[in-house]
Amino acid sequence: MQSFDFNYQQFAEVFARLGKKFRLFGPKRVPGRGRFSDTDLITYADLQNPEDLETAEKSYLSPKSIVFPPDETTFYFTADQFTEPELSDNRETIVFLRPCDINGIERLDRIFLENGKVKDPYYQRRREKLHFFMIECRESFENCFCVAMNANRTDNFATAIRFAPEKVSVMIQNESFLEAFAEVGKKSDFVPEFVKKDSKAVNLPDVEDMPADIFSDSLWDEYDSRCIACGRCNTSCVTCSCFSTVDIFYPDSRNCGERRRVWDGCHLDGFTDMAGGHSFRKDKGDRMRFKTFHKIYDFRKRFSEDMCVGCGRCDDVCPEYISFSSCINKLSDRLSGGKKDEE
Ligand code: SF4
Ligand code: SF4
Repeated sequence: MQSFDFNYQQFAEVFARLGKKFRLFGPKRVPGRGRFSDTDLITYADLQNPEDLETAEKSYLSPKSIVFPPDETTFYFTADQFTEPELSDNRETIVFLRPCDINGIERLDRIFLENGKVKDPYYQRRREKLHFFMIECRESFENCFCVAMNANRTDNFATAIRFAPEKVSVMIQNESFLEAFAEVGKKSDFVPEFVKKDSKAVNLPDVEDMPADIFSDSLWDEYDSRCIACGRCNTSCVTCSCFSTVDIFYPDSRNCGERRRVWDGCHLDGFTDMAGGHSFRKDKGDRMRFKTFHKIYDFRKRFSEDMCVGCGRCDDVCPEYISFSSCINKLSDRLSGGKKDEE
């Protein structure tokens, strides 16, 4: 492990050097594309130069699209054969991301690579190309609760980077990146630090098994009227991994087409539709309950860690100001015999 300091011009040189060999992907500001007309969108996108990299603000969308795109063709078919598409960009990829999102992608690994005997090949071929360049995160952003979710720390990174006003400090764990940095940087003793306190206190339920009556508790009723099923909380979440499979038949032949998988989510209408016209979890409160239990209960039963990493994006993006972290606290209160009629 070695560390180096750079001024911003030196860091730009390293960035350009890496860009010749790797695809560079990270948080990027898109002016005027935010939730309101005069606001910017911080999203994940390909980076052409270091100025593209937005390190001061939290991103609205997560980096999961690099391994799990919103819309992906899994194969093309004719009447008697099918072909899987090659990746359009086959380069190794450097992803700039925060500790919670590294933990989030590890949660996606559990779902796509470790949840049964078959690994998801579409996820796996993208995942194998990733190198994590961790953006150091020392202060909690609004709505973050990564400390409560035990997702504020990680040692799973190739390099860790601190973007200070006058300099950039880099610690290198993956020796294959040493040369690119060592030629330009000045040796330092930089070691990354991590968030120690959440901006919002979140108490996880202290029960091994959910009591059956909590499933029909009035706690969930408020979401029937408040939630509008827009699905923003699902699409912005780094750990939401659900998709629908769609077959598209080309207009010139009923035998030719393609199969796509498209992001879907437990809050969206139609997600639970089944053959024969059946559907379940029609009420929005039922959907909120399902998501809550999946994020902080069911997943833990299977993988011994919570699915939610406390990035707080679901709270950031909800147009109805529904707070998932408040929902967790309400559930904990209920289970401990506390408040019944909180907001
Ligand atoms: S449920 Fe919310 S806080 Fe948890 S990982 Fe998803 S978006 Fe982040
Ligand atoms: S973002 Fe808010 S309103 Fe939209 S589906 Fe999620 S909880 Fe419901």
